[in-house]
Amino acid sequence: MNKVLEVRGLQRSFQQGGVTIHVLRGVNLDVAQGEIVALLGPSGSGKSTLLQAVGLLEGGFEGSIRINGEEAAQLDNDGRTRVRRDVLGFVYQFHHLLPDFNASENVILPQLIHGAEPVPARERAESLLSSLGLEHRLTHRPSQLSGGEQQRVAVARALANRPSLVLADEPTGNLDEATADIVFAEFLSLVRNEGSAALVATHNERIAGKMDRVLRLHEGVLE
Ligand code: ADP
Ligand code: MG
Repeated sequence: MNKVLEVRGLQRSFQQGGVTIHVLRGVNLDVAQGEIVALLGPSGSGKSTLLQAVGLLEGGFEGSIRINGEEAAQLDNDGRTRVRRDVLGFVYQFHHLLPDFNASENVILPQLIHGAEPVPARERAESLLSSLGLEHRLTHRPSQLSGGEQQRVAVARALANRPSLVLADEPTGNLDEATADIVFAEFLSLVRNEGSAALVATHNERIAGKMDRVLRLHEGVLE
């Protein structure tokens, strides 16, 4: 099966007050096309550090990261920007929506940046938002939406450009338990329908158990 992500021997440490903290100590990880994988670990175990490396948001690591066969270390700045824009989608714990744009526009803009025409971009935004139950919230701004609705818009935005791999860092971690379960179920169903793969960091066993495979991050390696 085709791999969208192959990580080998990933190491990352931080210097803190003269002490070296080894956060990732040789992580190996594969994600196949269309596969949804949980990255489970308690707070401080290095989940965000791992996702930031895979998302090409931070250098400073050792080891190999291949995204759709492209080696991260061989990409220059433009190459990293291209992979982030064309191959990856991101969902964070806090929505990071643009406050001055409404729900539709927040999902349209990344498509326009990607080169889409305005009419199909709008149609796709409305279709993604509708599949998340937001057909009556298209012209609401983020501040006029509930936390669950804001995260749904962030999910639609992450999928707008049909990413091969969605990286999600505690995507429902900011929501109450009941809302988190509903939004997460909708996220899973939409990612599956779209055929994207996903790597989802969570500290929540129950949420992790809903994915195709669970990887546990423990003392800097995956079990
Ligand atoms: P998680 O997302 O699983 O909660 P993180 O990846 O955020 O964990 O952090 C893992 C560890 O790395 C923590 O001990 C944190 O303090 C440390 N860490 C993360 N980023 C930095 C940084 N920029 N400088 C120093 N230490 C960091
Ligand atoms: Mg984190």
